[in-house]
Amino acid sequence: MTAQMIDGKAFAANVRAQVAQHVAALKADKGITPGLAVVLVGEDPASQVYVRSKGKQTVEVGMNSYEHRLPADTDAATLMQLIADLNADAAVHGILVQLPLPKHLDEDAVINAIDPAKDVDGFHISNVGLLGTGQKSMVPCTPLGCLMMLRDHLGDLSGMNAVVIGRSNIVGKPMAQLLLNDSCTVTIAHSRTKDLPEVVRRADIVVAAVGRPQMVPGDWIKPGATVIDVGINRIEAEDGKTRLVGDCDTDSCAAVAGAITPVPGGVGPMTIACLLANTLTACCRANGLEAPEGLTA
Ligand code: NAD
Repeated sequence: MTAQMIDGKAFAANVRAQVAQHVAALKADKGITPGLAVVLVGEDPASQVYVRSKGKQTVEVGMNSYEHRLPADTDAATLMQLIADLNADAAVHGILVQLPLPKHLDEDAVINAIDPAKDVDGFHISNVGLLGTGQKSMVPCTPLGCLMMLRDHLGDLSGMNAVVIGRSNIVGKPMAQLLLNDSCTVTIAHSRTKDLPEVVRRADIVVAAVGRPQMVPGDWIKPGATVIDVGINRIEAEDGKTRLVGDCDTDSCAAVAGAITPVPGGVGPMTIACLLANTLTACCRANGLEAPEGLTA
């Protein structure tokens, strides 16, 4: 079997187009423009690239983008005051604090200071609790993107065996919760899991979110399974240059799986698209409107 490649780039472009359409309608019908504020503390090069990309795509879908760049030595009180100001600003519907923060700042305290209704990353403890109890919440962007692709490819996920490899708060745990909410039988595997290959072989759906290059080979995959590769790992290629690979060995997995997301061009582009979808959702809810179907969990 040769797996179908799930084209995350095209999927993300489609999500952004849908968001743009809804934003245009909100402006025309209600005079409302969704706004996303991104806060970057320090000069981490990767974070700067992400923040630039987020700002650019926010404007492209017709939303307002507000960037707040603070020096690396910003103290907690200054950052908390900025978050309080953004919480109170009616033009701001979504707030994202780019992680990681410099070591002297307490990430949990900062995230939990964001108004949960504006927490477009879905990391606030209130949103984690709402998701865990199956209530309306803001859902972390990367798992939301994975769920959208899985639903699109498989339709109803009910009753499927899903194995999520990785138990981080930003990917593994919310992913498992979303799959459980869609009535999958969910196993969360992690660094202490015994006989991981056997656990993965039972899965109709595999989501790999580990951060170890090409860790999952094709002979762990059940024939016909759907494989979502969240990993982004930079490795040195034979020509001395670096290239990006996932947590799965794409070639050997694709020989067995029914469908697989490539790296790059799979889950990666979905994360910012879902951030925009979440900002639209937050804006709709703030104005007493239902979030558009298909763009939320
Ligand atoms: P993390 O380091 O926080 O968590 C990794 C998890 O993998 C841990 O729960 C750990 O228990 C598990 N693990 C480690 N070694 C293992 C092993 N040998 N067997 C089984 N499990 C093992 O990482 P994260 O933030 O969840 O990110 C995971 C990967 O996804 C990284 O490559 C990251 O770059 C990528 N990522 C991609 C996106 C995207 O937009 N596509 C977003 C977030 C993260």
